Amino acid sequence: MIDLRSDTVTRPTPAMLEAMMSAPVGDDVWGDDPSVLRLQNAVAERAGKAAGLFFPSGTQSNLAALMAHCGRGDEYIVGQLAHTYKYEGGGAAVLGSIQPQPLENAADGSLPLDKIAAAIKPIDNHFARSRLLALENTIGGKVLPAGYVAEAVQLARSRGLATHLDGARAFNAAVASNATLAEICAPFDSVSLCFSKGLGAPVGSVLVGSAELIELAQRWRKVLGGGMRQSGLLAAGCLYALDHQVERLAEDHQNAARLARGLSEIDQASVLSQATNMVFAQFPQQHCAPLEAWLKERGILTQMLYASRFVTHLDVSAADIDTFIAAVKAYFRLAA
Ligand SMILES: *Cc1c(COP(=O)(O)O)cnc(C)c1O
Repeated sequence: MIDLRSDTVTRPTPAMLEAMMSAPVGDDVWGDDPSVLRLQNAVAERAGKAAGLFFPSGTQSNLAALMAHCGRGDEYIVGQLAHTYKYEGGGAAVLGSIQPQPLENAADGSLPLDKIAAAIKPIDNHFARSRLLALENTIGGKVLPAGYVAEAVQLARSRGLATHLDGARAFNAAVASNATLAEICAPFDSVSLCFSKGLGAPVGSVLVGSAELIELAQRWRKVLGGGMRQSGLLAAGCLYALDHQVERLAEDHQNAARLARGLSEIDQASVLSQATNMVFAQFPQQHCAPLEAWLKERGILTQMLYASRFVTHLDVSAADIDTFIAAVKAYFRLAA
């Protein structure tokens, strides 16, 4: 199968499984799982932060971070398209009593500075207390411009807000912009990093930040049901990814560019964007369902929507991209 639906579909490699099977473990709720501690320290160091905390999912890592930054009746400023706002079931409001203040994302994924400034509320009993600015990098595969990030964070700081980055794909951002992970994370008070996406681990996210913030997040992790026991088995998969599967993200970015080039040769396809490991493209609406079915019969999994997203990852090779493009071309030859 060639699965282009998401970079979450990767399977652990034999070497990763080997690392997981031989991991020393303890009870992480008691704080004595050596593999979890190793991962948390390694990721914090790489991200240039004081402390790290292992989570079962990015959703929970983001939520615990929001709850560590904001209390009941506080507000966070976030993009309409941000994962924390749009794709996490409204957890900040539902479970955290935190009011989201969503803003329209610009085409490059950023939140315009004037809109952020206008959304920050004065201290007044009429208003929720604006406490946090949350950005996402990459967003829709796009790397937020470093200059923009610096300005947005400086604006937030100057108005007394803390800052959080949903860095589910911050490793992609770092590799694509020839920056270190620490450079991508530096502006933010906290960053959530996913290991179950392009890095290829089966499970796990790590939240990084100051020791004080991580201590608060650790309490919320327990409350949210994320305290795990011999989770070193999972952390070892993430450690393996950290050591062996970061630099190779560049191949995913090349394969996404290859995919976009291939689609651009097809009259019925219009490529909307390609950045890092994601391509967004449109096909005539009447072809979406039949094309998806045609590809599936040929062992290629896609999700054809109004704007279809194709994601490259560890388990997709350049040859797989060529197979996919050839299959799309064959479909349109027959459909014509
Ligand atoms: C995947 C993802 C998350 C977290 O997702 P989980 O499936 O809960 O691990 C958070 N933010 C972004 C941008 C993501 O893509």
